[in-house]
Amino acid sequence: MITHDIRGKVLTVLGPTDPNDLGITITHEHLLIDLGVVFIDPPNENERRLAEEPVGLGNLGWIRVNWSSNRDNLVQADVSLAIREAARYADAGGGSLVDATSIGIGRNAEALAEVSRATGIHVVMGAGHYVGPAHPAGFSSRTADSITDEIVQDVQTGVGDTGIRSGIIGEIGCSWPWTENEKKSVVAAVAAQSATGAPLLIHPGRDQKAPIEIVSFIDREGGDLSRTVMSHVDIRIYEREILRELAATGVYIEYDTFGLESPFPPHAPDTYIPSDYQRIEQLVGLIEDGYLERVLLAHDNCTKHRLREFGGHGFDHIPLTVTSWMKRMGIGQVQIDKMLIENPKRLLTFA
Ligand SMILES: [Zn+2]
Repeated sequence: MITHDIRGKVLTVLGPTDPNDLGITITHEHLLIDLGVVFIDPPNENERRLAEEPVGLGNLGWIRVNWSSNRDNLVQADVSLAIREAARYADAGGGSLVDATSIGIGRNAEALAEVSRATGIHVVMGAGHYVGPAHPAGFSSRTADSITDEIVQDVQTGVGDTGIRSGIIGEIGCSWPWTENEKKSVVAAVAAQSATGAPLLIHPGRDQKAPIEIVSFIDREGGDLSRTVMSHVDIRIYEREILRELAATGVYIEYDTFGLESPFPPHAPDTYIPSDYQRIEQLVGLIEDGYLERVLLAHDNCTKHRLREFGGHGFDHIPLTVTSWMKRMGIGQVQIDKMLIENPKRLLTFA
C-alpha cells in the first residue's frame, strides 16, 4: 500500500520532494548520533584516562586510531554543530544526504528537519533498528510484524507525532555472527519495503561473507534487491571476486567510509581499513566490471573526530577533494555524476 503522495518523489524530512532537486547526494551519513553502544574499554590505565576526556587537539591523534574508545567522540547531539557541518557540505556543492541513523543510535527527526531548514540540504531519514546491542528493551519478545508496522508508520505518517517521515529503511544493523533478533529485524524491514516501496539500507556484519549472506536472505524473503543498498562494502570486502559476486546480485554497492583513514578497525582488528586511494582503486575495478550504475558514495560520519570542527574531513570531503582524486585516477565527470547524482536519485525515488 504505497501512499500516492510519494509516487515519483523522494521523501525527505521536509516532505515529498522532486528527485531532480536532489543534486549531489551522499547516501550514508549521521548528522546527529549516539554510538555509545560500540564503546570499547581500553586495555590499560593510561588509555582509560583518554577514554573519558572530551575530544580535543591534545588527544585527537590517539582518537583517530582508537575512535570507538573515547566516549565523547561517540556522541554528536549538538544541532547547531550539525547545521554548521551540513552548511560546509552545501558550500562545496552538496545538495542532499541520507541520514542513516536508525532506532537505538539517537535518531532525532525534529533535529534533522531543523538542519534541513537551516541549510537547504535535503535530508532523507532512516527507519528500523541498528545492531543487537542497540535494540531497545523487550526487542526479543517483539514479533516481526510489530517491527514492520513501526517502520511502515514512520514512512507513511511519520515518527511519533512529529509528522516527519522516513524516506529510507535503515541502516538495519547485522553483526557477525548474525543474531536471531537481527534476522527478525531484517525480515521486518523487507516486509516494510514491500509495503511502502521504500529503499532498504543494510549494515552488514564484519566479515567478507556477511554481505552476500544477507543479500541471499533478503532475496528469499521476497525483498527487492534493485532497491537495496549494501553499506560499508569498502571496509568489508577486499577481494575483487567477492565484490563481483555481490555486485552481480543487483544491490547497490556503497563505498561509504571515505575519509576514514586508520589502519585497523577497532571491532575487527584482523581486517583493515583501506585508504581513500585504495577505495578509489576498488571503484575503478567495479566500473571496469560494468557496475557503475550500482555504486553509491558517502563518509558515514558517525563520530566527532570526523567533523570539520574537530579536525576531521567533514561532510564536504567527497565533493571537495575525493572527486578530484577520482579524476586523477581515471574516473571521469560523467561517471562521478552517476555515483553522486543519478544513482542516489534512482534509489531514493518511490516508484
Ligand atoms: Zn552508518
